[in-house]
Amino acid sequence: MPTAIQVRRTGGPEVLEVADIELGPPAPDQVLVDVAAAGVNYIDTYHRAGVYPVELPFVLGQEGAGTVAAVGADVTDLAVGDRVAWQGCFGGYAQQALVPAELAVKVPGSVSDEVAAATLLQGVTAHYLVSSTYPVSEDDTVLVHAAAGGVGLLLVQLAKARGARVIGTVSTAEKEELARKAGADEIIRYTERDFASAARELTGGEGVAVVFDGVGKSTYEASLASLRPRGLLALFGAASGAVPPVDPQQLNAGGSLYLTRPKTADYTRTRAELTWRTDELFSAITSGLLHIRVGHRYPLAEAARAHEDLEGRRTSGKLLLLPPA
Ligand code: NDP
Repeated sequence: MPTAIQVRRTGGPEVLEVADIELGPPAPDQVLVDVAAAGVNYIDTYHRAGVYPVELPFVLGQEGAGTVAAVGADVTDLAVGDRVAWQGCFGGYAQQALVPAELAVKVPGSVSDEVAAATLLQGVTAHYLVSSTYPVSEDDTVLVHAAAGGVGLLLVQLAKARGARVIGTVSTAEKEELARKAGADEIIRYTERDFASAARELTGGEGVAVVFDGVGKSTYEASLASLRPRGLLALFGAASGAVPPVDPQQLNAGGSLYLTRPKTADYTRTRAELTWRTDELFSAITSGLLHIRVGHRYPLAEAARAHEDLEGRRTSGKLLLLPPA
């Protein structure tokens, strides 16, 4: 029986338990994957804590990469032995996972299992944010919060690739160095100074075209105050906590601002949209345009430590869990 990280009650990292699970054969539309690496994402902490309710018990994890071990009767485009990666269903923190075939994409030979597992969820997120939520161009100055984080390092690189001027926020000198290396033109230590006034200074008083904000509660107000008239706040996460109810009049007062609260599922609505994004990401990785930084690797059994580090703001880039062979 494969080993997995199961949640039987919601709570802190201590509720993550190592368990042997019964998977059974794949359903007609599923594939069974031998997991080489599982991605850790901030959303896993919301599922673990019960912020986003999930029926108990469940195996945590929304992302992974590995090799197809069995295919369901209706699956025609994947075969045993194919290397795949996926995001968007539970069960990734495990030696083996049952994955809907429509969520699994083939991984090119030039991309390792670890890089694929580190790319799917955060990569698709960064891709849709800069290309679809707000199509970033060379005329834009953009603000990326937590610029050395998993999504943050990818947003910086993809916004730079589209020609924008990128301002990043980070909490430490080490993270500042990583975000600058990824291409950020300016960095604000938002734990030390008011980033809205800093962003205004850096844009000659105008404000930025778009703020990519995955931090939420602690940044929301100042993110709005950083925008130019008709600017867009893409509030895509809540690492510091949920934003309280919003008054639309604030958008009016700020200069006819736009606010959106996007999620990946709405930007991967068809198989074609998913594979457009993943193909572009894999091509960018293969050509050297996009660098995937795996910042931290943990044995699967140490998933709780990974969550402590992520929530404790001690991480940069991607966190991976490596199941026993
Ligand atoms: P990160 O690697 O970015 O980790 C979170 C970072 O947020 C920290 O490293 C820290 O960076 C910053 N942060 C600021 N305040 C806090 C706080 N109080 N507690 C913890 N961290 C804080 O995580 P991910 O890349 O996995 O995710 C980033 C955000 O994007 C999350 O909110 C996540 O839910 C969201 N997300 C949303 C998606 C969507 O489609 N809507 C998809 C994927 C992710 P620093 O130390 O520099 O401040």
